[in-house]
Amino acid sequence: MALQRAGIDATIYEAYERPADFVGSFLNVSSNGIDALRAVGADHAVLDAGFSTPRMVMWSGSGKRLGDVANGLALDDGTTSQTIQRGLLHRALREEATRRGIVIIPGKRLASVARRTTGVEACFEDGTQAAGNVLIGADGLHSVTRRLIDPAAPTPRYTGLLSLGGRAFGRTLDPTPDTFHMIFGRRAFFGYTVRPSGEVYWFANVGCADEPGRGWDRSPAVWKERLQGLFADDAGPAIDIVDATDDDIAAYPIFDMPAVPRWHSGPMVITGDAAHATSPSSGQGASLAIEDTVVLAKCLRDTRDIGQAFATYESLRRRRVERVVRYSARIGRTKSPGPIGRWFRDLCMPLALKLFASPDAHAWLYRHHISWSEPVAPLVSAA
Ligand SMILES: Cc1cc2nc3c(=O)[nH]c(=O)nc-3n(C[C@H](O)[C@H](O)[C@H](O)COP(=O)(O)OP(=O)(O)OC[C@H]3O[C@@H](n4cnc5c(N)ncnc54)[C@H](O)[C@@H]3O)c2cc1C
Repeated sequence: MALQRAGIDATIYEAYERPADFVGSFLNVSSNGIDALRAVGADHAVLDAGFSTPRMVMWSGSGKRLGDVANGLALDDGTTSQTIQRGLLHRALREEATRRGIVIIPGKRLASVARRTTGVEACFEDGTQAAGNVLIGADGLHSVTRRLIDPAAPTPRYTGLLSLGGRAFGRTLDPTPDTFHMIFGRRAFFGYTVRPSGEVYWFANVGCADEPGRGWDRSPAVWKERLQGLFADDAGPAIDIVDATDDDIAAYPIFDMPAVPRWHSGPMVITGDAAHATSPSSGQGASLAIEDTVVLAKCLRDTRDIGQAFATYESLRRRRVERVVRYSARIGRTKSPGPIGRWFRDLCMPLALKLFASPDAHAWLYRHHISWSEPVAPLVSAA
């Protein structure tokens, strides 16, 4: 949508055969991500599908209230961070793109590329090809495009945490409007919010030193039992909520990508998780991916030379996204400390939350505004 707004025709080639409207759990789209969508007039699609969660209340596993903190900063019109089911976010953006005449071709998994004098040819696993002036790899954490740009590119870093999440129905917990409750439990971390209907959105982060192999057991029955054990000694409703969850528990090992040395080569460039995956603890990965695309489209709009456009895009984005990856990794480390770390965390957190409650402390993250109309100044080459 950003490319279209910049006057550039684009086709989306997606590996999945079918829309993934029911895949995954839910996620937080931060106010800066909503603001970036607004630059291309697509914010309403997300706002209609999500609900506001501008506040977080932190608890220790013993039931001590550690403090309150804003979940992002509101935009000038009051719009705040949103919680949204992942599938609904996909659907909202896909339908909006399709409505604008953008072609999405499913079942096309990029395998390799062939350079052409005027661009690049993408070769898909099904044996077909597609040619274009540029290839933008928005192909996620395990990006093929990243490897095609730089065969020596680093692989994702396992963070030592697993993430599990789901929705629970039928419990009579009081609704927690606008608020996510975060429990720093003795053995694992638990977050939840209760909708006015009583439906509960929850997630858990569990420390796991060894990276799970491909065939690790994600079955809900196994995880329900494990989570019951992990939260058995904590105050709060975690056990009850897990118990009331149907069999749709999403389970993922958590990775990040601290620094990818090369983001572009010739006519190819990467965006989003392909270039800089962040762990979910900051709730920023999707928002950063959205910001990237808006900035990249502006660079291609305002800079004639493609290589220079990509270099300008990288220079505008790299510092910010790598800072978020570091910030998110720091938050992640507070979620599964040992006994001494836990004691220290519970002691210091009330003060830390007070210090960081100031809107200025996080303005760099949430008040990042991308003006669509402001032209991009191309990087001046040192050569
Ligand atoms: C458990 C968990 C919780 C998270 N919570 C949050 C949160 O609360 N807030 C937040 O902002 N972020 C969160 N994230 C991170 C967020 O999901 C990612 O940062 C975001 O989805 C990145 O978007 P992307 O478009 O770069 O990549 P993806 O969303 O991964 O999309 C990549 C797309 O490319 C397709 N693809 C892959 N390979 C190929 C190929 N070879 N050819 C063609 N297509 C291909 C895939 O099928 C997919 O559709 C979370 C992540 C996890 C794992």
